[in-house]
Amino acid sequence: MSNLNDAREEANRYAKARQMTEQGYTARPVGEVEGTYFVQNPKGDLYIVMFFDNAPARCQCPDWKERERDCKHIMWLRSELETAAQLAQYEAEYGACELESTGIDPYPQY
Ligand SMILES: [Zn+2]
Repeated sequence: MSNLNDAREEANRYAKARQMTEQGYTARPVGEVEGTYFVQNPKGDLYIVMFFDNAPARCQCPDWKERERDCKHIMWLRSELETAAQLAQYEAEYGACELESTGIDPYPQY
């Protein structure tokens, strides 16, 4: 397969990953196993996705098994996790700033 076809396929895979939240894909951690998640498609099929510190991510889907490279599940989940982490950080920073400058909890009801 040519590099150009590889690049096209990769772009296509990424484009698919960007639509997955809208299509109803969900993810949840697998118990206490760090970096391991169930990804569920809208039909209810489950794939286990695993992230590692010093190795490429793995998935159980046919696409990953065939190529052993990031599939759409990995791309999607990585992006979801980064967004969630970023939101949590903004929230933490914003809350901390408010408390420091005024000493008043801006959201006492929560
Ligand atoms: Zn996959």
